[in-house]
Amino acid sequence: MLADLHVHTTASDGTESPAEVVARASSIGLAALAIADHDTLEGIMPAVEEGRLRKVEVIPAIELGTEYNGKEIHLLGYLIDINDSVLQEELGFFRNTRRDRVGRIINRLSRLGFPVTRERVMEIAGSGSVGRPHIARAMVETGRVATVEEAFDRYISEGKPGFEPRVKCSPAQGVGIIRRAGGVPVLAHPGLADADDLIKALIPGGLAGIEVYHPGHTPKMVSHYLEVCGRHGLVATGGSDYHGMENRKHNLLGACTVQYRVVGLLKELAAKSRAATGRGQGGTC
Ligand SMILES: [Zn+2]
Ligand SMILES: [Zn+2]
Repeated sequence: MLADLHVHTTASDGTESPAEVVARASSIGLAALAIADHDTLEGIMPAVEEGRLRKVEVIPAIELGTEYNGKEIHLLGYLIDINDSVLQEELGFFRNTRRDRVGRIINRLSRLGFPVTRERVMEIAGSGSVGRPHIARAMVETGRVATVEEAFDRYISEGKPGFEPRVKCSPAQGVGIIRRAGGVPVLAHPGLADADDLIKALIPGGLAGIEVYHPGHTPKMVSHYLEVCGRHGLVATGGSDYHGMENRKHNLLGACTVQYRVVGLLKELAAKSRAATGRGQGGTC
């Protein structure tokens, strides 16, 4: 009984629809997966429906991009109430900052001679949460770069001429947003951000876990974060950060998983936090 607790779909920057991702999860025998798109909950209900047909449990989740000392810090929120209107509003704000940033990057690219239009980028993103991967695909269409990877490496990664930062909230605010929506806040892939000092600081606000198992983590990082979890009583979660087979991040679905009992732990934590804040069960699906 394995669970992949970090999966993206076309609702944000993944290349497979929620139904396709669930079908793939079923084909590799996963018991559960968490749909954790960037700043949007759009992928969750279609995945839950497909999951019912295929007997795969879909855990509602979100991945929030926050900023700390100039570093990008990602937070996963598990079992959030997807019908919470305050959360919807806050996510709308997050998505607007993404859209503004896309416009600024496109302006930079046009100065660099890329005929990339906002219309085309929005078309590629579809109804999903727009981001740099969609710009990169539009750049490939111009023929000036061969791959999405090259677009990132030469132009739109941090420090490159087409890069623009995004206005973000702090990790502490992100933890608050997730908690208020009845969810369980977990620090995503901390090994990629090198911000260990944050962990201790976020615990009083409700940080409940660390994503220990992630394709970007070395075995040394895994044992380090397991030790940190043990020391602070945090849940060790894990997932593949799957973005689809055609994405530049070539993590396979199920590349990192945890035992299903971790899902049980997350449910217990969500129930406790909801009882403490006087909330109902909400959207635990
Ligand atoms: Zn992330
Ligand atoms: Zn992710």
